[in-house]
Amino acid sequence: MAKRLIILGGGESGVGAAILGKQKGYDVFLSDAGNIAGKYRKELDEYGIAYESGRHSEERILGADEVMKSPGIPEKNELVKKIRKKGIRIISEIELAYRYKGNSRIVGITGANGKTTTTSLIYHICKTAGLNVALVGNIGYSFAKQVALDPKELYVAEISSFQLDDIHEFRPNVAVLTNITEDHLDRYEYKFENYINSKFRIVENQTADDYFIYCEDDPVTMEHIGRFAIKSNLLPFTMNKEPNQGGFIKNGQMTVAVRDERMDMSVYDFTLKGKHNQYNTMAAGIAGSVLGIRKEKIRDAVQTFESLEHRMEFVSTVRGVDFVNDSKATNVNSTWYALESMEKPTILILGGVDKGNDYSSMMDLVKEKVKAIVAMGTDNRKIHEAFQNDVPVIVNTGNAREAVHAAFHLANKGDVVLLSPACASFDLFKNYEDRGNQFKDAVREL
Ligand code: ADP
Repeated sequence: MAKRLIILGGGESGVGAAILGKQKGYDVFLSDAGNIAGKYRKELDEYGIAYESGRHSEERILGADEVMKSPGIPEKNELVKKIRKKGIRIISEIELAYRYKGNSRIVGITGANGKTTTTSLIYHICKTAGLNVALVGNIGYSFAKQVALDPKELYVAEISSFQLDDIHEFRPNVAVLTNITEDHLDRYEYKFENYINSKFRIVENQTADDYFIYCEDDPVTMEHIGRFAIKSNLLPFTMNKEPNQGGFIKNGQMTVAVRDERMDMSVYDFTLKGKHNQYNTMAAGIAGSVLGIRKEKIRDAVQTFESLEHRMEFVSTVRGVDFVNDSKATNVNSTWYALESMEKPTILILGGVDKGNDYSSMMDLVKEKVKAIVAMGTDNRKIHEAFQNDVPVIVNTGNAREAVHAAFHLANKGDVVLLSPACASFDLFKNYEDRGNQFKDAVREL
């Protein structure tokens, strides 16, 4: 009898896993307690996959041989608890994709910040080198669906901690951990420890044939790395001391050393700006080198990579004032890096839904670089409390256009207006993309 595979969740991961499961001969049933978007219903119908929405048929689900749980469904969900109690194996979508990837290689990128940037740059390096490669995972396209419909020799996968929570055999040939800072603690019983453990699972099944690329300047990574029995080859990247193997930046020069290959490149040739992006570029350069890509190609790719929307995205210069959209910065650490990279006096647009922010780590940079803060949110009290003694001007605004006008008014020629909110967006916007787009529209109207 065919193995009964139940898929919980009818989004990108769930539908992708359903398509792959069906193709591999499982008896697949997909269940979503909420709505399933039209485009996904269409796909399910197209591939003849049975599904339900608006409810979970518990009996059927508990009769599964295996359950694939979408990353958005938390462990505290009652049904998930029952599935665990019954001893049914729960897998994540990347586990299923891994099972059927054949001989293809995987580069898996995880971390608190910089995942999408690093993943996209690695993909761009692979593309530039002419490899047969796909960009998959958290970045928007299901890994399982790619394996089912358009298999490649190499997968560059952005991987969230939620995807790592239910792996069993998943083993990336090259693992990248960008950094670890507190995030998503609501899903980890409010224990930072649990989140750290989850991130390190990226190396759990690696062997001596594999590689682990990580940031030696990240204190959390370095405090915990010793606890894990890592079998893969370690390739640290850092700005502090030159490692034998890995990546290093000193005096504006990046060196990447992998096996016997060495590559040098000036950071001024990177299209991605800012210190955080120097870290991301090192990680990507090392990954490219591990994959055996020639250094000319890596250099070429790093020089031609176009920065991503909503991440330190240069919008335009209006009467001598630069506008930068970093709407994706939804936590304090991201905004810290954005400010760190500012070379001109800055008007900072900050605010939104506070996720328990502690602004103290930003204070030195704010004192040094920020002329004024434009608070943009429905409740700006916390920003005033945090900065009132250190920033001469703080103004309140309630939408993107007001914020852009206020910031422009406060700016002089040669200043920069930076939208890097350090907060979630859903008090005033649909999501961070909507926030960034409204910001850009308002700038264009000036
Ligand atoms: P993720 O996919 O992990 O959310 P992104 O690449 O989308 O990360 O970047 C999100 C934001 O995080 C960026 O706008 C930038 O401000 C910040 N950021 C990017 N890379 C790093 C890094 N290596 N360290 C710290 N912050 C970073």
